[in-house]
Amino acid sequence: MSAPLLRVSSVSKTFGAVVALDDVSLDVGAGEFFALLGPSGCGKTTLMRAIAGFETPDRGRISLNGDDLSGVPPHRRPVNMMFQSYALFPHLNVFDNIAFGLRRKGEAKEAVAARVDELLEMTQLAPLGARRINELSGGQKQRVALARALAPRPKLLLLDEPLGALDRKLREETQFALKEIQRLTQTSFLIVTHDQDEALALADRVAVMRAGRVEQIAAPMDIYDRPATRFVAGFVGETNFIEGRLERGGADAALVTPLGRIACVADGFSDGARATLSVRPERIGVARDGEGIAGIVENFVFRGETTLLRVRVAPDVVLRAAAPHGARYAIGDAVRLSIALDAGTLLAEEP
Ligand code: ATP
Repeated sequence: MSAPLLRVSSVSKTFGAVVALDDVSLDVGAGEFFALLGPSGCGKTTLMRAIAGFETPDRGRISLNGDDLSGVPPHRRPVNMMFQSYALFPHLNVFDNIAFGLRRKGEAKEAVAARVDELLEMTQLAPLGARRINELSGGQKQRVALARALAPRPKLLLLDEPLGALDRKLREETQFALKEIQRLTQTSFLIVTHDQDEALALADRVAVMRAGRVEQIAAPMDIYDRPATRFVAGFVGETNFIEGRLERGGADAALVTPLGRIACVADGFSDGARATLSVRPERIGVARDGEGIAGIVENFVFRGETTLLRVRVAPDVVLRAAAPHGARYAIGDAVRLSIALDAGTLLAEEP
């Protein structure tokens, strides 16, 4: 990544006894689509508000293109925000909503019209310029809010749960539209969401937050395939945790668990260390017989491309395994589960 557009360095913020942000650092590149992901209360909104200038950090620094933003009021920052509620002006039509920020900046009438037309086109709202806001669908309102936020050409657009108000089908379609618009405008987007699917689907990189701290920053595929902590592995996607003690002999390593020895990649772990293997359901092989961990299908749900099985492998252990499309299992079926050498991620025991 070239020099970052946004740099958040060691930012902390408390509200009374609540530590909302605890030494948070991250960079967002020019033209990057970045997601802040985490459960409710982890500090995402506080960080976004600090970047927008609505909150003042207790410590740390936020800069844009190298310029320190502290003391710069929200409207003087080259940053705009799209609120989850959209906050559109109900008494103005679509065109005037999108034009609002440009007119306030005192831009010439022709320039305003040209920019609004461009955005109406980009967001596929061109026929609706004269419509009133209360005559629009939820998806159309969302696009007006996006067009309005992009109109003044911010360097960075902050989006608070941008798809949160849409139903599932529309969310999926809108994900593609949002990516496309981000690519066309080459604006840096920073979205805040508690929805892991949304973060993974949209962003170039994701920061996973927990209790005011950043646990991991990585590309979606790396977050999913190589979670850095047990929290990240559990919060992003579904997983199985299998605990045990490592046995290393030369280049080989195995986790000794109540389910047996599981060969694994254990770079950086020492012999005898306690560790947890995180294995996604689709990385567990399911067969009717042969080698592997013996278990009984206790329940299953059909998911289209896979069928997710809950398999009891010990009196107190159930593993989730995704059988590929076409495989038909019934409750009570005996199965064998196999975990390939590189199927899981080994996680250190946390203090
Ligand atoms: P959500 O997804 O629910 O919006 P979040 O991750 O955005 O959650 P924040 O809104 O940033 O979390 O809140 C972080 C913590 O700071 C929470 O414990 C919250 O209650 C607290 N907090 C946020 N704003 C204030 C405030 N103005 N006064 C007091 N406490 C606050």
